[in-house]
Amino acid sequence: MLVKKQIRGLPAYAPGKPIAEVKREYGLDHVIKMASNENPYGASPKVAERIAMVASETAIYPDGYGTELREALASKHQVSEKQIMLGNGSDEVIQFLCRGFLSSNTNTVMATPSFSQYKLNATIEDAQIIEVPVTSSGDHDLEAMLAAINEQTRIVWICNPNNPNGVALSREAFRHFLDRVPKECLVVSDEAYYEYVTTDDYPDSVSLLSHYPQLVVLRTFSKAYGLAGLRVGYGIASESVAQAIDPVRPPFNNNAIAHQAALAALEDEAFIRLCKEKNQQEKQRLRAYFEKEGFFVYPSETNFLLVETGIPGNQLFQAFLEKGFILRSGEALGYPTGIRISIGSKEENDAFLEVAPTIFNTCKT
Ligand SMILES: *Cc1c(COP(=O)(O)O)cnc(C)c1O
Repeated sequence: MLVKKQIRGLPAYAPGKPIAEVKREYGLDHVIKMASNENPYGASPKVAERIAMVASETAIYPDGYGTELREALASKHQVSEKQIMLGNGSDEVIQFLCRGFLSSNTNTVMATPSFSQYKLNATIEDAQIIEVPVTSSGDHDLEAMLAAINEQTRIVWICNPNNPNGVALSREAFRHFLDRVPKECLVVSDEAYYEYVTTDDYPDSVSLLSHYPQLVVLRTFSKAYGLAGLRVGYGIASESVAQAIDPVRPPFNNNAIAHQAALAALEDEAFIRLCKEKNQQEKQRLRAYFEKEGFFVYPSETNFLLVETGIPGNQLFQAFLEKGFILRSGEALGYPTGIRISIGSKEENDAFLEVAPTIFNTCKT
């Protein structure tokens, strides 16, 4: 058997540890997962109601075009439904873009550290990967990224705010960047944490689509909307880009229950506002605590914090795990002495703050 060369030896995605496994392994009754930036308040109650209503509708294939959801998103964003690319999570839209635009004689430019899926999918397509280190403040180095773009560059990835550090790019910087990227190169703005952003200096990238036909905006229902388990994400692009890559999409890539759940989630804007507010409050509280410990915390526009502790990430990960907290070690994320923590609910953060000082004290010495 000859698997293609670019995936030989490629490690499979290592997900955060599941709660049930941690409970069993460490004999814990209570485990709190603060590793994958899910919404600690779940989803709008309207979602479960809608799912119950359609729970028996499983025998018929879903609407492959996702007409209803497409129309709802088009109306929300004031774009044509033909500009929407629905994915089984925005991860899948990343895959479509790579499949549609990258091949062995092309390259793609991205920041490092950034979200792992750009590199993975580009590698599978055998494209050359050009990684540009973020600046010391954690920002995309846009000048260096521009300098790295050449005639073979098909996609440049902007993760805004960036995962894993939470740092956001300003409107001005983004526009200035778009003005200088060659028209043949796609600019993908991955905005998975859009709903959590509070700075008023954040780009309104959807409104930029009409000026910049090579722009692609990614959004997801997995984070603030609380539908990570159902897998719905989408891209918004020019009609020609969206239509060009549509043939690579599997015919029924979102299931029928997920369609309805996403529609119900979209209707409850009050829920998103409330989650954003609570996230902001709790984020300030955790940030203040980490700073009191003397750690550097990246300015985050998301629902997670990257904390530079000076302690090996895996060591801290292990110490918190044994106390029933699943965090994300910075070691696999490009920050060897960092730890990434998703902002929990008030109760979850209370519990975290109760055990954290002892753990940090033990690890610091
Ligand atoms: C979580 C995340 C996604 C993917 O989410 P899906 O569940 O696939 O929609 C995409 N980009 C970034 C930066 C993320 O953090």
